Amino acid sequence: MKEKLHTIPVQDAFGQDCECPICVMYQKLEENAINYTIGAGASYMEEDIRAQTDDQGFCQKHLQDLYVYPNKIGLALILKTHMDKTIKDLEKAAKAPLPSPNSMFRKNAKTSSPVIDYIEAQEQKCFVCGYINQSFESYLRTIFYLYEKEEDFRKQFEESKGFCTGHYKMLFGLAPEYLNKKYLEPFLRTLNGLFLEHFKRVRDDVEWFICKNDYRYREEPWKNAKDALPRALIKTGSVSVPRME
Ligand SMILES: [Zn+2]
Ligand SMILES: [Zn+2]
Repeated sequence: MKEKLHTIPVQDAFGQDCECPICVMYQKLEENAINYTIGAGASYMEEDIRAQTDDQGFCQKHLQDLYVYPNKIGLALILKTHMDKTIKDLEKAAKAPLPSPNSMFRKNAKTSSPVIDYIEAQEQKCFVCGYINQSFESYLRTIFYLYEKEEDFRKQFEESKGFCTGHYKMLFGLAPEYLNKKYLEPFLRTLNGLFLEHFKRVRDDVEWFICKNDYRYREEPWKNAKDALPRALIKTGSVSVPRME
């Protein structure tokens, strides 16, 4: 079966001036997923979609995003039936025999109960994350496909400003799965070099930001340090915040 490829969004992300093109790709997918979940298409009024949001609920990040979206009644409808399902399932789980005190030899033993099991399973689920991940995986595959097939993309990759730590790990971990013998080693060497070079660059910008807050450096130029913190947030935690001046 031929995998679906996403060459255009991948090349667009790598063409942007940013601290992590994978973060850029992910944010675009996240925006689309939030729109799909609560936007004008009202997917939540479709029975099969609502059954999925009832079951999966949302992670903290995406509950916040959904709340910020200007459709409070849509969110209320989604959360009402999700809460109905949670109540039904937890009422059932709470009927199981209650845990007894830990024995003195197993003081740190984990409490075992269908209540804990249910909530732990729910914590792993999020409708928006699931929707994003359907496409995100093929976006990542597309990076390796283009790296093998297109000289221009290899150049674009090498000229990028590196990646955040999380996406560095992701590319490093997936490369042996997708790249052939000829390209795997150069890819990993380039990836290691890019990550460290640009992580250090942003570390230096943060250092200069600290200096600039010291009166002895007041007359010195800002160089690239003004927005060092938002860029350090991306590099260290894939967190995107509006840039300060
Ligand atoms: Zn990233
Ligand atoms: Zn989520």
